[in-house]
Amino acid sequence: MGELHQLTAHAMSTMLAIGEVSSRELAQSALNHIEAVEPQVRALLTVTAEQALAQADEVDRRRAAGELLSPLAGVPIALKDNLCTSGVRTTAGSAMLSNFVPPYDATVVSKLRKAGLVFVGKANLDEFAMGSSTENSAFQSTTNPWDIERVPGGSSGGSAAAVAACEAPISLGSDTGGSIRQPASYCGLVGLKPTYGRVSRFGLIAYASSLDQIGPLSRTVEDCALLLQAIAGHDERDSTSTQAHVEDYLQECMNSNVTGLRIGIPREYFAQGVSADVARAVHSAAALYESMGATVEECSLPSTDYALAAYYVVAPAECSSNLARFDGVRYGVRSADKTGHIGLMELSRGQGFGSEVKQRIMIGTYALSAGYYDAYYRRAQQVRTLIRNEFNAAFQKFDMLLTPTAPAPAFKLGAMTDPMEMKLADVCTIPVNMAGLPGLSVPCGFVDGMPVGMQLIAPPFKEALLLKAAYVYQQATTWSSNLSPAASAA
Ligand code: GLN
Repeated sequence: MGELHQLTAHAMSTMLAIGEVSSRELAQSALNHIEAVEPQVRALLTVTAEQALAQADEVDRRRAAGELLSPLAGVPIALKDNLCTSGVRTTAGSAMLSNFVPPYDATVVSKLRKAGLVFVGKANLDEFAMGSSTENSAFQSTTNPWDIERVPGGSSGGSAAAVAACEAPISLGSDTGGSIRQPASYCGLVGLKPTYGRVSRFGLIAYASSLDQIGPLSRTVEDCALLLQAIAGHDERDSTSTQAHVEDYLQECMNSNVTGLRIGIPREYFAQGVSADVARAVHSAAALYESMGATVEECSLPSTDYALAAYYVVAPAECSSNLARFDGVRYGVRSADKTGHIGLMELSRGQGFGSEVKQRIMIGTYALSAGYYDAYYRRAQQVRTLIRNEFNAAFQKFDMLLTPTAPAPAFKLGAMTDPMEMKLADVCTIPVNMAGLPGLSVPCGFVDGMPVGMQLIAPPFKEALLLKAAYVYQQATTWSSNLSPAASAA
């Protein structure tokens, strides 16, 4: 069975329910393992040991009193550090927020707090979630638990590494263009970006508001289902969160087969610098689905080729607006060496933001300026409509699409010097955000000793279908049962 910290959230939940383990024992075991592996993995910016033990004790007390608890009560979790946590520093990976202690919880955080989850720490990320390697954090680079010379992916690299190293069985990330699915692929995890509007964004430090979604990272599909269940639903504090019914995702995913499922394989997703080994892994997964009763057919989504370019207009445009609030006046870092309010803002923003963030603010401001709006921003929005229409048309014919998650396995720390090449790591995930669809990455093999994932894409609010299809695949393969070296390190 392995050690306590290596259990899945689902297994922990079962053992807690029958009294075979206490929440305190699980929290202590996670914290001990964090202490052992953090010097190498560096997934967490803040470890909240005291709070975790107090939360665990409270759940144990409620359980002993016979209270009806939610399935994840007493299970440890790590939270990406762009999710506001009341009383606990929340940095978004930026020097700008190095001293920011939110006075409130993000909606997802308060839901998990009520459900009795145990918060072990805040996970590292690329500054304001801009990046694909977690090397853009103002504080530290996180390593990949499968090979500490490689990146964990990004921007939710800390959340992914924490789970792959078994510092916690589950974590939350955020995904604007691939930041949950791409690190899931690099770290051998299941990662889900829900439909836009499925999960409240209240209290998520905004990057690009029309693209951002919060979602789960886990080692198994069951854990992904459990965590989605706990965070999904309408929130009156986020007008873009929908009333759509929240299904019993665990029940749905475990109760199924793929007979008759129509799977489309869009050929453009294999032309974007995707390595032959990754393509082979995805195609053999397709063959496996076929052998289990699904139908598989190639299809075409021609506007895929323009998604990356359009994203790098829309996302910076929204970020330039969202990050205007960090002015050195209201909160965050203030540099007060200059006189006058313009000088104060200039210096605070100059010192508080890293270079990737500044570049994007400048590109976004440029694209939105009166003379260039039509040439860039409007056209990018038009491309976005084309992408969405093509997906809609494909879903007339197919229930689900299957693609690689990332073109290649995790690269070496410091190796990606060309910023364009780094951006190509998200070429398969970005179109899904542009169309607001749900996308899930599930492990589908190893390339050069490193895990790789495949991406399942479904129509809006069909998360249950993605989880079903991923669960069937997980049950028929062994990829998800492998543990990283850091997960077993003492
Ligand atoms: N790598 C992409 C970017 O830098 C996506 C990041 C994300 O999903 N947050 O914008």
